[in-house]
Amino acid sequence: MEPVVDLHNISHVYVTDREALLAVEGIQMKVLPGEFISLVGPSGCGKTTILSIIAGLLKPALGEVKVKGRTVNGPSPDVGYMLQQDYLFPWRTIMDNTLIGLELTGKLTEHSRSLTAELLKEMGLESSGRLYPQQLSGGMRQRVALVRTLATDPELLLLDEPFSALDYQTKLQLEDLIVSTLRERDKTAILVTHDLSEAIAMSDKVILLNRNPGRVHRTFEVPDHIRRTTPFYARNEMGFNELFHEIWSEMESIGVKE
Ligand code: ADP
Ligand code: MG
Repeated sequence: MEPVVDLHNISHVYVTDREALLAVEGIQMKVLPGEFISLVGPSGCGKTTILSIIAGLLKPALGEVKVKGRTVNGPSPDVGYMLQQDYLFPWRTIMDNTLIGLELTGKLTEHSRSLTAELLKEMGLESSGRLYPQQLSGGMRQRVALVRTLATDPELLLLDEPFSALDYQTKLQLEDLIVSTLRERDKTAILVTHDLSEAIAMSDKVILLNRNPGRVHRTFEVPDHIRRTTPFYARNEMGFNELFHEIWSEMESIGVKE
């Protein structure tokens, strides 16, 4: 099976007027179709840098990035990027916010508009289409951002700490919603998170990075029966705590626990 994401020996250097910083080095990573993987590691280990490289927003100093078998050299409609901050435009209604990607890519049609309205409905936002972002709670806004990301139907989703500004209960609900929505649509996803239990509950694999420079330290496979369970209940599954402690102690041993 051809990987959706294939990072080959990626290194990136940030150059400022005072220094050159080797942010990530020798990153190898393959993500298969339909896989959900998480990147965890201390702040500054290069998680956002890796997502930006996959999204085509940053060109790596070294190495090759392929998405769906093609070398990345700029943003592509195959990739959707969702951030911690929702970046909704305050002067646009919720519906109009979700249509932005379609407008920008010239794909706004009656059909794509009604699919987007359908997605809003699935996210429990059918009565919010005419409201403005400031009228919505943080959890609702993140759901709008998810609809906006999915509206253009990207095959790959990059999620950079999308839940970290939300309260715990909202975060748990959104975890389930995202996993079920992406699974139904056979999407591939890479999630960056601070929360190790979230990473295990949502993913097929957890990749632990270390820092200075950021490298892949170790990859952990999540057992099948945990993968098949929704994130909320995954936390009660046999083996969940054992895996949590295994990754946690690995983090401590390399001194990357936050
Ligand atoms: P993470 O998302 O894991 O917290 P980042 O990818 O944001 O890490 O950052 C990796 C390293 O690169 C950090 O040391 C950070 O300070 C540095 N860095 C990130 N963005 C820039 C930038 N635009 N200019 C200079 N250094 C940067
Ligand atoms: Mg980051």
